[in-house]
Amino acid sequence: MVALAIHGGAGGDGPWKGPTDLDPDRIACMYGVLSRVGSLLESGVTALEAVTIAVEMLEDEPLFNAGRGSVLTEDGGITMDASIMNGSDYSAGSVVNVTRIRSPIRAARLVLDNGWPVMMNGDAADAFAVERGVEQVTQEWLRTSLRKAQWQKWKDSKAKPGSTDEDDKAVLDHDTEQMGTVGAVAIDYLGNLAAATSTGGMTGKPNGRIGDAPIIGAGTWADNKVAVSCTGVGEAFIRTCAAHEVAARFKAGESISSACNNMLDMVAPLGGRGGVIAIDAEGKIAIPFQTMLMYRGTWEDGVIKTGIGPDLFSH
Ligand code: ASP
Repeated sequence: MVALAIHGGAGGDGPWKGPTDLDPDRIACMYGVLSRVGSLLESGVTALEAVTIAVEMLEDEPLFNAGRGSVLTEDGGITMDASIMNGSDYSAGSVVNVTRIRSPIRAARLVLDNGWPVMMNGDAADAFAVERGVEQVTQEWLRTSLRKAQWQKWKDSKAKPGSTDEDDKAVLDHDTEQMGTVGAVAIDYLGNLAAATSTGGMTGKPNGRIGDAPIIGAGTWADNKVAVSCTGVGEAFIRTCAAHEVAARFKAGESISSACNNMLDMVAPLGGRGGVIAIDAEGKIAIPFQTMLMYRGTWEDGVIKTGIGPDLFSH
């Protein structure tokens, strides 16, 4: 039994208003990832390689907030975080605030394969990846016009006299085009599990900010029982060790779905409403979210489903 779940970020408040003009492209990307990586899993690719390829493909879609098309920091730059974990041996790799590579998840995977250390940051992480063949790109290539426009909107609203933190948050939370962190979890034909997460973070984030995505146990976790990738306001996921919390609850006897929902209930009061995808060693998948929407999809027994709002659709 092999299976795969992916996400393209969670966000927004209030009831689902239906797809935007850009959503068909996002759905097409998710469908492409699920069909290619699902077939690869069927043909014997490991869960670790499957989640690497899935996230790499999602990073390459400029409409998701990872790799090209990442959101912009307070000074208009792009800094990206990613991590990956292999459940069978607890090996892990993470890169923080990389700025000049096409695929942060491939860099994290190279850190994992290298064996030591687990986390690398900034220019040293970029250099490590480029030396090992990850494509080097410019900030201008990473920055899309959509993200520049969103950043301008954030900046203008922030500059408004009398603007408060609450107003700033409203700009971030209500603009449903600003989300798009990506992640994947998979089980392979040997029953091994893996998880990966990659993000540009949050629009207007201060320089040096590190979210949950590159933190093993917060944004990403995999062991031999469960694999987890989270999305949402990272600070709250860090403060609850959210991805590991799902694993701890699952191993204490909660179902995969309860473990995910109970974790989200812990995170929400800390200001971190979001979503999570998880898969257990029997191939059971949970993909709950507490926001308006979460881009998500599953591949199970050759059946591909994708969704944005409350419902999932079979292809
Ligand atoms: N968790 C990501 C971060 O805080 C953002 C997201 O998932 O939308 O960097």
